[in-house]
Amino acid sequence: MSSQYTVAKFGGTSVANYPAMLRCAQIIHNDNQVRLVTVSASAGVTNHLVTLTQQKANESQRLALVEAVVAIQDAILQQLTLDTDLAKGFEQTLDEFKSLALLPALSTQQCDEMLSFGERLSSFLFTQVLRNLGVNADRFDARKVLKTDNRFGKATPDIVATAEAAQSHLIPLLERKVIVTQGFIGSDPYGQTTTLGRGGSDYSAALLAEAIKAQSIHIWTDVVGIFSTDPRLCSKATPIARLSFDEAAEMATFGAKVLHPATILPASRSGIAVFVGSSRDPQAGGTWIEREKSNLQGIRAVTQRKNQILLTLKSPEMLLASGFLARIFTILSEYNISVDLVTTSEISVAITLDNAQNSSRPELDQACLEQLSKFCHVTVENNLTLVALIGSQIQLKQHQMNLMQVLSDFNIRLICHGASKHNLCFLVEQSHSDHVVQSIHAQLLESA
Ligand code: ADP
Ligand code: ASP
Ligand code: MG
Repeated sequence: MSSQYTVAKFGGTSVANYPAMLRCAQIIHNDNQVRLVTVSASAGVTNHLVTLTQQKANESQRLALVEAVVAIQDAILQQLTLDTDLAKGFEQTLDEFKSLALLPALSTQQCDEMLSFGERLSSFLFTQVLRNLGVNADRFDARKVLKTDNRFGKATPDIVATAEAAQSHLIPLLERKVIVTQGFIGSDPYGQTTTLGRGGSDYSAALLAEAIKAQSIHIWTDVVGIFSTDPRLCSKATPIARLSFDEAAEMATFGAKVLHPATILPASRSGIAVFVGSSRDPQAGGTWIEREKSNLQGIRAVTQRKNQILLTLKSPEMLLASGFLARIFTILSEYNISVDLVTTSEISVAITLDNAQNSSRPELDQACLEQLSKFCHVTVENNLTLVALIGSQIQLKQHQMNLMQVLSDFNIRLICHGASKHNLCFLVEQSHSDHVVQSIHAQLLESA
């Protein structure tokens, strides 16, 4: 049976500094259904931590990065006095961070440990901001419940183990208090720290909501909902009041950064409604994502995902032979590589892979390429962007004319449509992609 609880998630800009944290604390103070709060690291912190893990930095650069992280915490601490329990934990965590940052080389497990410090630190500070408003709040270590495998950098959650741990350790606490926990981080079966991949706090909020059987998830960010395209790119982008789980999942998958790609999975699996709104302007409304099928047909949004890799694998020997695709996909799955778009001909296959910038784990490694090269000719193209039109019942014939008109100005590398009526995707050169998105938005979404 589901509870009445709401899980609230606050992203990096929402907890970037003291005034921002205070606005978020007020949102919780005004909504007594919120019992579990998931916070990100303060804006900028995870980027510094990623640089620390990349081992390009020499000792003095590492010290500068540590200083930059500490300065962000200190600016918030100047406005707060931490209660003894929080002060003790905060100092200890900061000491652990400083010691790890001294090491010149880190194992993949230590990299995740390093990346975890942003959320671990911000959650101490945010708990105090809530307490100062009179909210009965405690901090809770997400690693006690968010159980994952040990694929460091992009761990896969263990849903059953997470639900069991939440039942034993977390749900009893929610009856009496508002619990503040960390997004993005979890732990493997041996208790070692893991992370869910960049932007993973949204996913954590959804996983925890599922584990505590919450009724809704509120994602508080820096925009008043999900827009028809990134509002930073198109000033005429408009917020979308309602989206189905399918539409929202497609948007997140194909680059609407406002939601981590996997966020909708637990929500849709467990029927938990998701709201996306702005912590700067909570009264302004936002987007509700729910199970109901959208009765609005056609294109509702355009998204883009930069830094895509196009792999073309060719083998003339495969003409009329079977098993070529199976061989390729077996190797890709051995390397845990997830494929987005696929097009095939008799002797070749072209696939796209994500190579997210600032990721702590690159998608394509050399060993995988070597394996593939043993039986086919492999070409790798970089600097591409995947542009996706998202909606319901998208039918190419309805948009063909307008779309061809827009796209005729650009070099289209690959087109995919048909597997789902929720998207129509193509690959363009990265240097043109902002312009492509703006033109498509103007032609297909601003006149509608
Ligand atoms: P947070 O730190 O709160 O997780 P993010 O930076 O990850 O926030 O996501 C919010 C950003 O997502 C917005 O500032 C916006 O620029 C970007 N974005 C991209 N596509 C969209 C879209 N379709 N609708 C709304 N925001 C979008
Ligand atoms: N702090 C992590 C990141 O910047 C997770 C998140 O904010 O969602 O990627
Ligand atoms: Mg985010």
